[in-house]
Amino acid sequence: MVHEDEASGAADASGIEVPPGARNAGADPTLDDGESRAPAGERHVTRVVVWDTPAAVECGQRFAVKVGVTCASRCTLAGRQLEVRDHADERRATAALDEQRWPGTDALYHAEVTLVAPDAEGLYTWEAAAPASAGAAPAGAAGRGDAAESGDPAESGDPAESGDPAESEDAAASGDAAATKGPAVPHARGSARFGVRVVSAPACLLTVVATHAEGGNPVEGARVVAHPYRAVTDERGVAEMRVPAGEYRLFVSGKGCVPVRFDGKVTADTTVRAELTQDRELSDADIWS
Ligand SMILES: [Zn+2]
Repeated sequence: MVHEDEASGAADASGIEVPPGARNAGADPTLDDGESRAPAGERHVTRVVVWDTPAAVECGQRFAVKVGVTCASRCTLAGRQLEVRDHADERRATAALDEQRWPGTDALYHAEVTLVAPDAEGLYTWEAAAPASAGAAPAGAAGRGDAAESGDPAESGDPAESGDPAESEDAAASGDAAATKGPAVPHARGSARFGVRVVSAPACLLTVVATHAEGGNPVEGARVVAHPYRAVTDERGVAEMRVPAGEYRLFVSGKGCVPVRFDGKVTADTTVRAELTQDRELSDADIWS
């Protein structure tokens, strides 16, 4: 489901461009046939990629992903609609593809889509899709939903109106003629799935009070890390972080001080007192690099 060359940003075997870090390219293996040009009169193959998905989202929070769409025949797709459907096949958002191609590509169009995470924790599989388009055929010539679902080869002969092969080729080649209104040739539905990991909002306030072991003065500017949360102590030597209930491993490091580690469990608001010892042998950089 994920292209092996995803990190390269280069065109893959089928000539479809994938931006650096893009995931879930080619989610529909039936379309991943390496064919770069649809025969005249058939629907163009549309590929969808999703990238910049967050590692995790808190319940009910907004987040954004980037969705890219490419036509295998390199049509101009500016302004074309796409949609995101959730695990229950409910539409969560629609967006229009940007007018500009993704930098460094000649056929990848994208949209940033803002979404809202479900209210319950879990790992959800959502889908970004570029719905099938009927091209220049009169409205209603092709049953949008049905055609989109089936992908049945028998469908390809169906929109006879769209059929002038010469016209299709021109539109695909010149591109500009089809801008904004969408390409004049019919396009098959393309889609890609992506994961949405929803986590509960951190419920506990973890307070760290950092003091010098000698004298008890507060340590200002000490770094506090309980991965992936981090904070820095203020002039009172205090740092506060919201963390989920559960196990934690906490590191406190002050400039010129020996780092201190705490392992524990937090089930409610908790205060950790860190007494830092001056270390004149090693610098901070020595320890943390
Ligand atoms: Zn096309």
